[in-house]
Amino acid sequence: MLDLRGVTVTFGGATAVDRVDLSVADGAVLAVLGPSGCGKSTLLRAVAGLEPLAAGRIAWDGADLAGTPTHRRGFALMFQDGQLFDHLTVARNVGYARRLQGVSRSVVRTEVADLLDLVGLGGYADRLPRTLSGGERQRVALARSLAARPRLLLLDEPLSALDTGLRGRLAADLRRILVASGTTALLVTHDQDEAFAVADRLAVMRDGRIVQEGATGDVWAHPADADTALFLGYGRVLEGEAAATLLRRAGLPSTAGAVALRPTAVWAGPDPSEGGSGIPAVVRSFRPAPDAGRLVVAVEGVGELDAVGAPGWVTQPGRRVVVRVERHAIAVLTGGATNPAGGAP
Ligand code: ADP
Ligand code: MG
Repeated sequence: MLDLRGVTVTFGGATAVDRVDLSVADGAVLAVLGPSGCGKSTLLRAVAGLEPLAAGRIAWDGADLAGTPTHRRGFALMFQDGQLFDHLTVARNVGYARRLQGVSRSVVRTEVADLLDLVGLGGYADRLPRTLSGGERQRVALARSLAARPRLLLLDEPLSALDTGLRGRLAADLRRILVASGTTALLVTHDQDEAFAVADRLAVMRDGRIVQEGATGDVWAHPADADTALFLGYGRVLEGEAAATLLRRAGLPSTAGAVALRPTAVWAGPDPSEGGSGIPAVVRSFRPAPDAGRLVVAVEGVGELDAVGAPGWVTQPGRRVVVRVERHAIAVLTGGATNPAGGAP
């Protein structure tokens, strides 16, 4: 397995990767998720042996890789733009590394056919890269990375260049392909959907540091702090009295310093007598939307909150409504509201 301890990379006086500890178990997929510029690509390049370490240690199965150059590490690196050879067919792109290794033509042909089936491109062997869509090109790049049978696949924002819809589908495929081929992978991305769709475990990176690490579902449900929650797609973080009041009124334990709300955490309904239990609120604004109305409501002791209305229901500013809080769409931030890593807000 891959193990990083205290890994630090500096450029001049600036620290791009700061004392990172991480490990990736055999067959596991770890995503490092963080905003642009936080040091993800540098971390990946360090693992590949393309950046020298200022401090720390990178080991594989307990053996320090410091003396092992990139091409001897047995790792494959795949980028955002797959970087295919444009003058070679799909099959020759995928089989390139194996042919260099001296593997026979007929064996390579069989392996390439299997890999193209795996990535859903059976029948594409003789196409040239320029005749492929962006998604197809990335599948070819993935097949080519897997062809060399790397003991670790390093993926740098592999789907970021694709359209949103395609990205979602290909993320699910990528996961299936990595699991089916038993590939150990380290993926870095700024896209939380990509990270959640592909990885088993998630490490959140900010300003060169890993600020939280765990199973993807756990990190999602329990962000360490407000910055992490907002980065993970929570829409709002309430602190202090507002947080305590909301939790209390929602019938939840209210010991926390802060609570993060997903964009669909608060639901608004028309009338206390019809809606049964709920927290009384006043509509500040209402905007109809195709699926469900979007409101801003004022809750006494909490302040203004974004809320989602029942489909088809129309209301207007000033009306009294009730709101309820979806427990699964909120996270109590035990680490409080401040960023322990001391990063920029
Ligand atoms: P990310 O991949 O998360 O967007 P990078 O790892 O590319 O972030 O960059 C992290 C920081 O290191 C940035 O501030 C970037 O400007 C800096 N950096 C990256 N590569 C170099 C380099 N070769 N020389 C100097 N600074 C670099
Ligand atoms: Mg990058």
